[in-house]
Amino acid sequence: MRHAPGAGYRMAQMDAATPRTPDNFFRATRYIGCATTPRACPADDGAEVVFAGRSNAGKSSAINAICDRRNLARTSKTPGRTRALHFFEVAPGLRIVDLPGYGYARVAAGLRQDWAAWITRYFETRRSLRGAVIVMDARRPLTAQDEQAVDYLRELPLHILLTKSDKLKRAEADAVLRDVQSALASAGISVQTFSTLKKHGLEEARVKLAGWLGGG
Ligand code: GDP
Repeated sequence: MRHAPGAGYRMAQMDAATPRTPDNFFRATRYIGCATTPRACPADDGAEVVFAGRSNAGKSSAINAICDRRNLARTSKTPGRTRALHFFEVAPGLRIVDLPGYGYARVAAGLRQDWAAWITRYFETRRSLRGAVIVMDARRPLTAQDEQAVDYLRELPLHILLTKSDKLKRAEADAVLRDVQSALASAGISVQTFSTLKKHGLEEARVKLAGWLGGG
């Protein structure tokens, strides 16, 4: 694993006496490095949740907003270059994992081409994996690739973030939410609207993630 340089990085320390709530649960999150092979991943203990989504859907922005940190996950990446898993430690043994954005490969080629083969092995073998957040642009939810991702990850508890909801009128966002909820409800998948710009949906997302990670 390539570790983040210590210089310039300041971990938000949480007072040991502060009770943990979903609101402050993520505040001390720090980047612990990236992996391009299973062996380079952090020890498979504790609990972790993955974030998946089409490139540019707002995945990095969502991780930053949930953790209340501006530059935790990079918000601009070169398309197709990010083949690594990026690991963030929320607390010892509790991790958020940023998956490579998908949507570059033709739909037929699918995730297997977007995501390196070893990521398949990660999903098949990772014991600490507790759930997956799939980030979708609220203006274009459930694209063919999003449906592939839902199908691919369906063995896990899934939660959908409909991001950039500030770009829609309230009634439109509500209608999209209802549509996606009704498309996925039978699979037991939870769905919410989310906006980093308006700080909308942060609490709901934090409660879901903290629940999966066993805290909050
Ligand atoms: P990623 O490729 O999925 O990690 O996407 P990014 O987080 O880098 O976001 C892609 C673009 O969408 C950036 O220009 C962000 O500023 C923008 N963006 C992300 N979330 C929101 C949001 O909630 N509202 C608006 N208006 N823009 C957003």
